Amino acid sequence: MSTPLRFDGRVAIVTGAGRGLGRAYAEFLARRGAAVIVNDPGLSAAGDAVSNSRGPADECVAAIVAAGGTAAASYESVAHSAGAVAIAAQALRDFGRLDVLINNAGIGLDRPFAETSAADFERLLGVHFMGTALMCQAAWDTMRTAGYGRIVNTTSSAIFGYANCSAYAAAKGAILAFSRSLALEGAPANIAVNCISPAAATRMTAGVGMDPAQRAWMERELPPAAVAPVAAYLAHESCTLRGEVLSAAGGSVRRYLIGETAGFRAQDLTPEILADNLARILDPRSFAAFASASEAVARGQALDRQPIGSAVTPPG
Ligand code: NAD
Repeated sequence: MSTPLRFDGRVAIVTGAGRGLGRAYAEFLARRGAAVIVNDPGLSAAGDAVSNSRGPADECVAAIVAAGGTAAASYESVAHSAGAVAIAAQALRDFGRLDVLINNAGIGLDRPFAETSAADFERLLGVHFMGTALMCQAAWDTMRTAGYGRIVNTTSSAIFGYANCSAYAAAKGAILAFSRSLALEGAPANIAVNCISPAAATRMTAGVGMDPAQRAWMERELPPAAVAPVAAYLAHESCTLRGEVLSAAGGSVRRYLIGETAGFRAQDLTPEILADNLARILDPRSFAAFASASEAVARGQALDRQPIGSAVTPPG
């Protein structure tokens, strides 16, 4: 059996850690030795300000301490610069360092595009994307100076397309592109930035239209605790991944791949020629995944150097 991956001496921030997935991450890291800042302003599922409560963060901290772990509560919102700066500063003040940042805080919105307002887009992008970016910014200098950091950002299968959730999906897509770019910048300073795409029975998924049998299945098969080991792996010193997305649900772990097919090229391309060659353009057998825009451009240029009309050889 391999050596247990522990976090002794490490300090972690988990945002939105008062309930659901964040709480499972915070409890897992604390059990493995980390001191954890449990951040949660106790918002409603839709993120309206009227429902702020210290209860969720306090309950998570109490559970960690009762189990012999170390944690402190933070009630700031990640969606504002001042809140993000205060959360990062609290890690340094309470525990003297900052090694791990898990950006998990989130709100939901199940609404057709036609009924989604500008304020809805701003709220969703504000918590998910700005919250993630501001927290990374607040932690960045500390991690760069230390020459060490582990950042886990939260995306979602919504990036594949999710009807009636366009604002949520957009925010999760922004996090994905942001994280892959930040991973490239962080790598030289030994800051690993990756994403988790979780699925679990939480308050957020309870709001999604589901029949009672489906809900019961989800609660039985997809507990938040089953996702925590994936977040912990990405947060661990031994993690060599950079800019990856691991999906996690009920003990399953998978990888998202982002790339392009080899496609088709014509000297004098017209829409008609494109239409005639659509099957070749879409053919997933010539798919290649990329870790960066420069890898994508390099492959495109290599393909463009091949003679026009030459067959594209599918891999394998
Ligand atoms: P949840 O509603 O149970 O917990 C989210 C927590 O985030 C809440 O406690 C809430 O108070 C907190 N929060 C909201 N706004 C905040 C803010 N501005 N600052 C700090 N904290 C804030 O939801 P969950 O299912 O545990 O979701 C956790 C994360 O996982 C979210 O980012 C969500 O989008 C993502 N996710 C969840 C699922 C799933 O199946 N549950 C699927 C895909 C992605």
